[in-house]
Order: sequence, then structure tokens, then C-alpha cells
Amino acid sequence: MLFYSLHPFFSRDQMLNDGKLSVGGVLISLDDSRSETCFVSHAHSDHTSAFLKNRKIIASEETFTLMGRAPEKHPIPEVSLASAGHMFGARQLLAETESGRFAYTGDFSLHDSYTAKGAKILECDTLMIDSTYCMPHMRFPDRWQVMSTMEKFVRQNSGATLLFGAYASGKTQELISFFNRECAVAPLISGRAAEISARYEKCGLRLDYLAAGTPEADEAKSRPHVEITTPMHANFAYGAKLSASYGHKVKTAVATGWAAFARFPVDEAFPLSDHADFIDTMRYIHESGAKKVICANSGSKSAADYLRGIGVNAAAKEELGKGVQAILA
Ligand SMILES: [Zn+2]
Repeated sequence: MLFYSLHPFFSRDQMLNDGKLSVGGVLISLDDSRSETCFVSHAHSDHTSAFLKNRKIIASEETFTLMGRAPEKHPIPEVSLASAGHMFGARQLLAETESGRFAYTGDFSLHDSYTAKGAKILECDTLMIDSTYCMPHMRFPDRWQVMSTMEKFVRQNSGATLLFGAYASGKTQELISFFNRECAVAPLISGRAAEISARYEKCGLRLDYLAAGTPEADEAKSRPHVEITTPMHANFAYGAKLSASYGHKVKTAVATGWAAFARFPVDEAFPLSDHADFIDTMRYIHESGAKKVICANSGSKSAADYLRGIGVNAAAKEELGKGVQAILA
């Protein structure tokens, strides 16, 4: 009983078993591959282990295509998917269980982007939410304001090659769309990013870019251009190396939410995030009406501590895996 009074979160309901969702007699892993059936919220590599392990997968058609696999329909009528923002094809999961409505956001953003529709706030009893930025100091400036600053940066530096660092899947395609639409520029991208971009195009998204290794890309290198590289290469040292090789000035930049809190060794760091910040995470928790909140992904323990401190009935996903439910069962 003492345990109940200290941890009212952990009731006897079996909606979640070791962090897996139990619905319609099926155990579903959420963005990991620990059960036969797995939900993959989106195509970022830290969420897609289930695709490597021959699991039954619940995901959007777009995510299947981005992962290079033919879309499959899932047979669980209690489970439905909803837009999550964040990246092309990202979805949230909503399930009707015996213990009430359960929602899992995966990585999410409430704002529309060029490549994804903003997340719908799902009303639920239990909410598992991405808590990457769920601390009060973690706030992003207005997304469109940031992009307006990026557009000015591109316009004012037309005499230099601009080297942007971004992951090959998700942020690169968002940046390509931005450069296409706002700057009338087709950026040069790596072969790997071009491979993923071709899968976006297969889903009907128009992207205009120059793929490394093609004659057009080689020709573009002789004059100032916009180039997207891996985050690892977006720094002063690599910029200087490229500048010597291209024979003209190179300026470096990153576009990431972390630029709001950390310094990067680049000429310009734009705080452009595909995640919800603190304000939007709190908005989601409040408007969902959830009675229990589970914090998932990076920062989950400190986020759960913070939420408990302000009176939210919260726990970290990892805390569900420590046998607490088994103790109570
Ligand atoms: Zn992600």
C-alpha cells in the first residue's frame, strides 16, 4: 500500500506491460523491436530497428516506402494512426484498450512544415509523449521567423557556397523544399540523401536537387551554390577544406533545434526544429486530457521528475520496465 501512495501512477491495469502496449490480445512494441508486432512512428534510424528484424510492422505507407519496403496493412481494429508532424510519414498511435484510450506521440511537432502536417492532439486517458524538449528553458523561436532569417542568409551570401549540415533523412528533404520554394535554389546533396529523396518523390513529394556524382553536381561545384552535407561535416575546418578545393568562399551553417541551446562551430546556426518544444509539449499534455503521462525518448527521466513536481501524474518509459507492474500484479 505504501507503494501505491508513493506511486499512484502504477495501477493494476495491464495497458502497458514492460513499456509495451497490450491491445486486442496483441503486445505492441513502440519504436523498438522487443515484440513480434511493432509500431514504427517514423523513418529516423533510432526508431526503425523493427524493420531490421522481420517484425510485423504498424507504420504509415510513407514510412514503409522510405524504409524501402512495400506497405502492409495492420490487422488490429483497436489501433489507428494520426499525423505527428516531425517528418514526412510520421504518425502517432491511438489505441482503444480495456483500460481506456492510449495515445503515443512518437517524435512530434504541432506545426506544419513543408513536408509534414502538424500533429493532431489526441484525447486520451494515458499519454506516452516524446519528452526530448520537455524542460522549461527549452523553447524555440517561431519557425517561420527562423526560415525568414535563413532565406536572408542565402540571399545575402550569393557570392559564397553555403554548406548546411543536416541528417540525410527528414531534415535534408525539409531543407530541399525550403530552398526550392523560398530561394528558388536546387541544393547539391550526397548520394545517400539523394537515394532517400527519390523515395520521397515516389510518395508524390516534388524535390528539386543535384545529386553528388552527377555531371550537373560537378558543374555546380565550380561556382557558388547551396550544399547539404552530414551534420558531422558542417564546421569551419571542413568548410575551409572545401573552399580550397572549390576555389571560392564557403560559409557553414546548421539548422537544428539544439542551436537554441548550444554553440556550433559554424558561421550561422539556425534553431529550426522538427520537435515540439516545452510550450507545445505542455499544451499537448493539457489538451489531451490524459490522467497519466509517460515520458519517452531522451530526457524522459528529468521530464517525468519535472512533471511530477508540477502535479502531473507522470513516469518515464524506462521506469515501467523495472518490474514495478509485476510487483503490483
Ligand atoms: Zn525523429
